[in-house]
Amino acid sequence: DKPAVLTVDGPGGAGKGTISRLVADRLGWHLLDSGALYRLTALAAQRHGVAPDDEPALERVAAELDVTFVAEGDKTRVLLEGDDVSRDIRTEQAGEAASQIASLPAVRQALLQRQRDFRKAPGLVADGRDMGTVVFPDAQLKVFLTASSEERARRRYLQLQEAGVDASLSSLLKEIQARDARDMQRSVAPLVPADDALELDTTSLSIPEVVERLTEWLAERG
Ligand code: C5P
Repeated sequence: DKPAVLTVDGPGGAGKGTISRLVADRLGWHLLDSGALYRLTALAAQRHGVAPDDEPALERVAAELDVTFVAEGDKTRVLLEGDDVSRDIRTEQAGEAASQIASLPAVRQALLQRQRDFRKAPGLVADGRDMGTVVFPDAQLKVFLTASSEERARRRYLQLQEAGVDASLSSLLKEIQARDARDMQRSVAPLVPADDALELDTTSLSIPEVVERLTEWLAERG
């Protein structure tokens, strides 16, 4: 039998990253931050001078991605080709570049098996856009987290401030809305809830409330 998976999909800034990490910690499960893989592919392409529309070259970059995730307390350090890029991949620019290359089918295909390899006992919490629809269609529980775009922009703003990255709230809101549109309208693996996903609007919920809800739902599924 394959290890259990909880998929957490939804738009950027809905709290997927924070919630997924806390739920994984609480359960002692592994964690997949699939967005980081798209961000890393975009960053690696930049480093190697690959154009953002050169699909065959981007496919190779994704397939050969040399990345290590190092768990450090409640943070994860991310190494690309041995260099610490934990901060570089969190910029809005990296998110934007990730969203662009994420619309290319060859890139998504090249990252598919790498994502599935994260599924190990005792279980996996998988955070992304297509975890429940494409990568782990047989997941025990699929959750689709949402929040208003204003609330998501506010959260991203606070997150960036905390990381010491400069940002403006109004430009974050515009970027979030543009990225939502692109993620929802792309033809491959668009951002939509799986048919069997449970949707949760987190706009007025606290982080512990969301963690509690997901843990309850998972317990109900046995
Ligand atoms: O979640 P995060 O903001 O790190 O993701 C960055 C971008 O990567 C998203 O805007 C989306 O376009 C893409 N992505 C994706 N599929 C995933 C995770 C992220 O297409 N499973």
